[in-house]
Amino acid sequence: MRERRETMSETSTGTGIGTSNGHGATGTPMFQIENLHASIEDKEILKGVDLTIGQGEVHALMGPNGSGKSTLAYVIAGHPSYEVTEGSVKFFGEDILEWSPEERAQKGLFLAFQYPTVIPGVSMANFLRMAVTNVRNARAEAEVAAGGEAKPMTPREFRRLMKEKMAMLKMDDAFATRYLNEGFSGGEKKRAEILQMALLEPRMAVLDETDSGLDIDALKVVSEGVNALAGPGMGVLLITHYQRLLNFIKPQHVHIMMAGRVVQSGGPELAHELEAKGYEGLRAQVGAAV
Ligand code: ADP
Ligand code: MG
Repeated sequence: MRERRETMSETSTGTGIGTSNGHGATGTPMFQIENLHASIEDKEILKGVDLTIGQGEVHALMGPNGSGKSTLAYVIAGHPSYEVTEGSVKFFGEDILEWSPEERAQKGLFLAFQYPTVIPGVSMANFLRMAVTNVRNARAEAEVAAGGEAKPMTPREFRRLMKEKMAMLKMDDAFATRYLNEGFSGGEKKRAEILQMALLEPRMAVLDETDSGLDIDALKVVSEGVNALAGPGMGVLLITHYQRLLNFIKPQHVHIMMAGRVVQSGGPELAHELEAKGYEGLRAQVGAAV
């Protein structure tokens, strides 16, 4: 764990994101969404989202189907179909809405679903090497441009890093030689995602755990991965419809989204309240507007 943190702090200098405002010295939060409005095909889905995540914190975003959770994840990822009409999304004080999806990844944001799901004939190891060295090399270039010293990652270094991360995540070596997502079970797809996250060493990960298809194996992979990787170097926004994922991952903060807004925020007890009352019970409590 300690070793990893040292690696993370090296990486964080390499992202080009100023450490002067990145560690709370000036009170700038790691990630801050303010009054975010976004539309798709002229239909407004996000109607003023406010959400702040401090460095290294694990937050869960819950809400009924259709409340806009995935839309928020897509907007954070920079999906071109969504138009932001108002508000801001800041990462260490910088406006991410100005950045391309690639830049977002280079600066240390990780979004689980923005990667291809089926690439026949490409092994897991090769896919990860391309995806990860692209991001890491761009970070290294940014560091050089900022006057620092950094070398692009060699294939040998990549293999060593992958071995280390796979060991950390208790993954079988044979997994790396499998062909990407061909015949992968739900759990194996999640394993690939989590391995990619581990290799990219993001400073914040957004995981949209869609409601369907998360069997118990997949749930365990996601939760063990998040629990192994989350820490001072990596914050998490875990999006989920179901409370059950939170039996495995313990967020420090829970937010409830309804009708395109965060209507309630609290501690882990909020997830339990939700389990007891259901979304209808909470809806009644926060008012008829949603
Ligand atoms: P959640 O992830 O909370 O279930 P979504 O963000 O997927 O919610 O959807 C929020 C709303 O946006 C829903 O009402 C859905 O019908 C609408 N929506 C999602 N995608 C599109 C689209 N491509 N075109 C029009 N409406 C959409
Ligand atoms: Mg969704």
